Amino acid sequence: MSEPRRKVGIHYDAKYEKHDTGPSHPESANRYRVLSSALEELPDDFPRIPGRRAAVAEVLLAHEAYYHDVVYQDVESFADQLRTGDTAICEESYDVALEASGAMLAAVDAVMRGEVSSVFCAVRPPGHHATATRGMGFCIFNHVAIAARYLQKKHGLKRIAIIDWDVHHGNGTEAIFISDPSVLYISLHENGIYPFTGPATERGHGAGEGTTLNIPLPSNSEGDVALKEWDAQITPAIDAFKPEFLLISAGFDARVDDPIGGLRWSDETFAAMTRRALAHAEKWCGGKIVSMLEGGYNPAGLASAAVAHVKALV
Ligand SMILES: [Zn+2]
Repeated sequence: MSEPRRKVGIHYDAKYEKHDTGPSHPESANRYRVLSSALEELPDDFPRIPGRRAAVAEVLLAHEAYYHDVVYQDVESFADQLRTGDTAICEESYDVALEASGAMLAAVDAVMRGEVSSVFCAVRPPGHHATATRGMGFCIFNHVAIAARYLQKKHGLKRIAIIDWDVHHGNGTEAIFISDPSVLYISLHENGIYPFTGPATERGHGAGEGTTLNIPLPSNSEGDVALKEWDAQITPAIDAFKPEFLLISAGFDARVDDPIGGLRWSDETFAAMTRRALAHAEKWCGGKIVSMLEGGYNPAGLASAAVAHVKALV
């Protein structure tokens, strides 16, 4: 008998195009349209997972109430930038950000119910730069952090691992869990670029010491450098932590030809990283993975890398 095919869900929705960042912004509705057209072409044996709107109480699993109110007020007052910094908003942005967080929670629920073994959530705006108290770097709410806390609170899981392979360091996710030993945060990122955080020496604080792993990579390096680091550092960290669920902040801006990132990963690099993540999830948590779109600013490259990621989850 052949190995049973793994059921991989995907989530995408035109509602995410309503977050309007203005003309010539790299994190554009157009990049999303190109990606979702590519996902649409995947066959029906990739079940489409419906999303939902996150409740405010769910957002507060990872954010301070006053920061939630800042987002709400800035959007209500028709501001075009979040007052906390470098994040374009429009009158739809608060609702779209809640939908993006909610999609992650719906995906987590679908995996926990056993309907699918994993889900890729194509959402925007991205989330990993948002801290408990501020949005920045095109991010409003930190969807992956909200999903990790939701897995613990709603589903009673104890140990969640987050692997973040966006080209930028996920300073927001790191900050939210820096002292929390129940969430292992691992970041592969290009050294010396925005947001200029994530040195290898940062390993977590207090009770969370040892559950942060930063792997800065030299600019212009190719995928084999990242994969070598994965085998040397990520595999033993995951094996020591024994996660009950694996979340992935899947940015695709480390891909060659990205206009913002300076790494040179190929679609095959993303597939190879996905196969490694899948092996970790199969070993420790029954294959449970939810990944989400973070960055990726060359629309065609984003689409082909994301499709390679989804196919490698099977
Ligand atoms: Zn990025």
